[in-house]
Amino acid sequence: MRKHIVAGNWKMNKTAEETLQLIKDLKSKIKTSNAEVMIAPTAVNLLSAVNSCKDSEIEVIAQNMHFAENGAYTGEVSAEMLKSVGVKTVILGHSERRAYFNETDESLAKKVDQALKQNMRIIFCFGEELSDRKAGNEETVVESQIKNALFHLDASAFKNIVLAYEPVWAIGTGETASPEQAQDMHAFIRKTLGDTYGNSVADDMTILYGGSVKPANAKEIFGKPDVDGGLIGGASLKAEDFFAIVNAF
Ligand code: 13P
Repeated sequence: MRKHIVAGNWKMNKTAEETLQLIKDLKSKIKTSNAEVMIAPTAVNLLSAVNSCKDSEIEVIAQNMHFAENGAYTGEVSAEMLKSVGVKTVILGHSERRAYFNETDESLAKKVDQALKQNMRIIFCFGEELSDRKAGNEETVVESQIKNALFHLDASAFKNIVLAYEPVWAIGTGETASPEQAQDMHAFIRKTLGDTYGNSVADDMTILYGGSVKPANAKEIFGKPDVDGGLIGGASLKAEDFFAIVNAF
């Protein structure tokens, strides 16, 4: 059975104090929900966020991690460190990591392997750029991103993976993929999985949409049969907006 998930990617926003305030506001609103609710504060605030979410339905997740177990990688954070502060899920492959920090399908495959080795759950992000879509190449691009980073895995690994389709042209731009565009791509992703791993892996896969999801459009996007939730950027930074999106399920 696949799950419904609404995850807030806070990106490089919120100080220590602001993090605790936003969590307090979220906890006062989100009591029960039809979706799993997650928030991804920045690394330095993970421990305090985990502590502050202990008595709530909200899971605190990480935005990134390194592919090595430990060692001389100044400035980096390992899966083991994340686990040691109570984080069990990590976002990998976000387009901002790919664009600004040179993450490639190859380095992401290594991160995926390390996260799974550490028994972490992964929200794996991918998505085409505007030029790909204009050229009609969006499916080819998405297929290669998924295959290159994930298709070396055994079928059993996919129970610890959530996919997040985030078209780059829709991130932070206010321009959302139409519900039909999201549905078409999600169905294609599910078919791609099914062709290699069989229908049960494909049917059980949770596939999130990300890119300018707002209270005003969440219900329509989440209403599509192959859209199982959202990865929310800007609108996850305001308690009312995030709450409204969680409630769209
Ligand atoms: P926005 O919701 O701000 O477009 O960001 C989406 C995103 O990148 C979530 O990871």
